[in-house]
Amino acid sequence: MPSVLNVDLHCHSNVSDGVLPPAGVAQYAHRAGVNAWALTDHDEVGGVARARAAAHGLGMTFVAGVEISITWASQTVHIVGLQIDEDNPTLLQGLQATRSGRDTRGREIASQLARAGIPDAYEGALKYVDNPDLISRTHFARYLVECGACANIPDVFRKYLTEGKPGYVPHRWASLSDALAWIRAADGVAVIAHPGRYKFSALEEGALFDEFKQLGGTAIEVVTGSHTPDQYAEYAEQARRHGFLASRGTDFHAPGESRVDFSLLPPLPASVKPVWHDWF
Ligand code: AMP
Ligand code: MN
Ligand code: MN
Ligand code: MN
Repeated sequence: MPSVLNVDLHCHSNVSDGVLPPAGVAQYAHRAGVNAWALTDHDEVGGVARARAAAHGLGMTFVAGVEISITWASQTVHIVGLQIDEDNPTLLQGLQATRSGRDTRGREIASQLARAGIPDAYEGALKYVDNPDLISRTHFARYLVECGACANIPDVFRKYLTEGKPGYVPHRWASLSDALAWIRAADGVAVIAHPGRYKFSALEEGALFDEFKQLGGTAIEVVTGSHTPDQYAEYAEQARRHGFLASRGTDFHAPGESRVDFSLLPPLPASVKPVWHDWF
């Protein structure tokens, strides 16, 4: 391993809602100086083999990953699984079931947008979808920018596609315990993705952390492109307080589209123990 580790354990390819193919994400990360890297597509491991081959070709250490959508206390929460065996049948079945409601949800999102004056959004979103099993709100967001309904992607989520706005379709994802069982079956490590992004009270957040820990979860993301710098410190403290390991990743989706680019993401604070402390 290089003497300076630059670890990024949260990235998306066009196998979910990123725009680059898995090998393209590997190249992009490598060029930005990453030397240990995980692909963590939403609810899908179809890109892992290509990502591993590309990473190894570039001399990067590779970590197989996935980001599982779950529903907890009526909110969508994301659980990252790392160091998974991507061929594990229990994991594969669970992810397949998780993906299965996405197309129906996508059609419903489009009907709502049509009622709000934006026609043909299903077809529009599909132009951005590479994996027909994985139509996501991000694909709708790209189309809403393209057709001029919104100026940029954050604007789309502010005006549409989020709770209380036209184009928001509530969806019941997997349970926390199911997601952790799948990750366990695949010999992986479970990580709560971007905990600062959820709209939980402190009490609810504490309950999520406790239940996650009880189910075998060991880490939370501390430095992620989805946190503000204040939240890096806040969740480093939460990790310390709850005895969690800490993870780091950009949550990269596309060049120019992500909130924080690879080279701008700071390292983990020295006060936390990295989730990869005994991996490399
Ligand atoms: P879905 O899994 O279809 O519900 O889509 C969730 C995805 O939408 C997330 O993984 C992000 O990539 C994207 N997303 C959600 N909220 C926002 C936001 N406020 N700004 C930009 N992207 C967002
Ligand atoms: Mn995404
Ligand atoms: Mn996420
Ligand atoms: Mn993500």
